[in-house]
Amino acid sequence: MFQKICLLLLALVCVTCTTSPLDRRQVVLYSDQDMARQGEQAYREMQAQLPISSNQNEISFVQCVADHVVAALSEQQRANLNWEVTVFDQDQANAFALPGGKIGVYNGLLDVAVNQHQLAAVMAHEVGHVLANHSNERASQSTLRNVGIAAARILGASDTAVEVLDQGTQLGIFLPFNRTQESEADVIGVMMMAEAGFDPEQSILLWENMNEVGGARPPEFLSTHPSPESRIAELQRMMPSANNLMQAARAQGRNPDCVFTRQ
Ligand SMILES: [Zn+2]
Repeated sequence: MFQKICLLLLALVCVTCTTSPLDRRQVVLYSDQDMARQGEQAYREMQAQLPISSNQNEISFVQCVADHVVAALSEQQRANLNWEVTVFDQDQANAFALPGGKIGVYNGLLDVAVNQHQLAAVMAHEVGHVLANHSNERASQSTLRNVGIAAARILGASDTAVEVLDQGTQLGIFLPFNRTQESEADVIGVMMMAEAGFDPEQSILLWENMNEVGGARPPEFLSTHPSPESRIAELQRMMPSANNLMQAARAQGRNPDCVFTRQ
């Protein structure tokens, strides 16, 4: 029984293997166009439903940082996606980037990401999720999981077997996979911010700030992310190469100067 299910899943998996920018094997079932369309649709819905900041200082600061982060992307990455940023008037320290290059920043984040470098660290992390196709991967996993469970039912597996399969996919694929995606976005993000000329050391201070704000009830942004300690340790390991990238970027005149004036 399980052999049949495995064969079915394997067949699906093998036609859809790709690799992430860090050379990790990925299963993606949807086309980039599909994902971009879905991302854009979700973004327009958020813009229609959530209050949008009207504070010009906030907007131009966030736009300035976004422009520098996007400028550090390859020509192809810039051309393929229609990058856009919106500042939402929301208290939480949160940000996201959707497939298709749609970035959202909650203005509550500006109390935690206290300078351009720290905001760039968050934004580059979110853009890292987009470049690494993480939404596609997540959507594909949940499709495969549903297909697997449906197949098990069709093939007449007992309820217990279906339950085991269900739990296995949840525990074995979902949780560790998300942590993998998070640290992948951290690696891509810190290199990207450095290539834009931002100071990568500030990414460590950012996560320390996030940690402090967290307290008993962490901000939404932290709830799905790795522990601050392991994330900071990993970032520290990347600092020598990230600093080299920043020096090279600055030598080429990439030296962002985005200022946030609080009213
Ligand atoms: Zn993340």
